[in-house]
Amino acid sequence: MPLQLPPSLWAATARPAPATPPLDASRQADVAIVGAGYSGLAAALRLAESGASVVVLETGEPGWGASGRNGGQVIPGLKWDPDELVAMFGSEAGEDLVRVAGGAPDTLFNLVARHRIDCEATRCGWIQPAFADADRGLAARRVEQWQRRGAAVSLLDRDTACTLVGSPIYRGGWIDRRAGSVQPLSYARGLAHAAQEAGALVCANSRVVALARDAGRWSVTTAHGPTVSAEHVLLATNGYTDALWPRLRQTVIAANSFQVATERLPDALRGTVLPKGHVASDTRRLLLYYRSNHDGRLVMGGRGPFREPIGPIDYRHLESVIALVFPQLKGVRCEFRWTGRVALTRDHLPHVHRPAPGLTLLLGYNGRGVAMGTTLGTLVGANLLAPADNPLPLPITGMRPIPLHPLHRVYATAILQMYRLFDYLAVR
Ligand SMILES: Cc1cc2nc3c(=O)[nH]c(=O)nc-3n(C[C@H](O)[C@H](O)[C@H](O)COP(=O)(O)OP(=O)(O)OC[C@H]3O[C@@H](n4cnc5c(N)ncnc54)[C@H](O)[C@@H]3O)c2cc1C
Repeated sequence: MPLQLPPSLWAATARPAPATPPLDASRQADVAIVGAGYSGLAAALRLAESGASVVVLETGEPGWGASGRNGGQVIPGLKWDPDELVAMFGSEAGEDLVRVAGGAPDTLFNLVARHRIDCEATRCGWIQPAFADADRGLAARRVEQWQRRGAAVSLLDRDTACTLVGSPIYRGGWIDRRAGSVQPLSYARGLAHAAQEAGALVCANSRVVALARDAGRWSVTTAHGPTVSAEHVLLATNGYTDALWPRLRQTVIAANSFQVATERLPDALRGTVLPKGHVASDTRRLLLYYRSNHDGRLVMGGRGPFREPIGPIDYRHLESVIALVFPQLKGVRCEFRWTGRVALTRDHLPHVHRPAPGLTLLLGYNGRGVAMGTTLGTLVGANLLAPADNPLPLPITGMRPIPLHPLHRVYATAILQMYRLFDYLAVR
């Protein structure tokens, strides 16, 4: 039974999916890629463009995971600030990583332009509005660090932040003009199409159930039978990582992020919410992220219960926060509700592992994988076949399972409650 794409605003409004029939027979390839999100597809595109034979195997369809369900905010950088990355990795490697992460939107928008990907791409910038007075210092620090590196960012005073967001609740903030937005599922489908055009074979409904190494090659077995024999394998399964490679799932916490989308806003209200087309995510510990889409809906995202949602009640907190942030939208209905899984790492960095010859694992975007997944997928693709010519901006590390992983729901729920309390206290 083919896995259906879960209902969402993006599934309802995306460009048509390219044809990606399941793997029909066993094949040989230079590289087999597991997972058709931005990471796997960007790697496939890069590899196919350099002449490698590539097969992408996906349980659902391209964009079935987080890549077809996210907020579509194309944001530069990682969870750490530039100076923190330099302190962690040293000046040369740290600045290199900052450059790659800061340039991640360029990588994405250049791909969109080069392959004419029809995905409602806009580049109006990202605002991080300050939720509490204390967060203005954070905004000032971030602006100073990025400006020192020549990035197009600036500080926003309270009035300007409130005007650009269309909300009276913020205390200031900063804007990063390198950022923008895409329709996330259309972008994933466009990447899949570009990879196909370059020669990659992209197979939907082809869940991989076993990896085995034999005589210097990998045998990659699908649930319905056919295998791919490949020299290299890339696992790009992020928050949907299963038990395919031992202990990998235990290196991340897969957490649901929740989103709702309103009905189309009446003309009189449209211009009052993010009137200049910015996307935004605020500074709370349990951050809210939001944007409008091309037909004038507000899309609001944030954390919800740690378990899988059981019905509309699990989205009520997000629906009610809309009128708190945008009082003018009181009474506006939500028409779409959906979730997707992000992969959180202990050090808040994406991870690249090489636990066996010819096997690369790439995951852990901590909710920042639209631009970074595209970028690291591209770079890892280049690195697989010619590592010396294409060094990675992150070290290849050993896998470190998170202690007490089976209990992660319990402690993650406790941390969420604590963060909720901190957010409450920050504005008292
Ligand atoms: C609700 C939500 C909102 C977000 N908003 C933003 C945002 O606005 N900006 C931002 O930068 N980031 C955002 N993110 C994060 C971003 O979406 C992800 O970091 C990014 O999409 C990860 O891409 P990926 O290709 O690594 O993984 P995914 O897109 O999750 O793809 C992994 C794929 O692997 C497949 N898979 C798993 N196991 C197997 C197997 N055994 N065989 C075959 N296939 C398998 C899955 O089916 C899945 O399709 C958000 C995430 C969510 C969930």
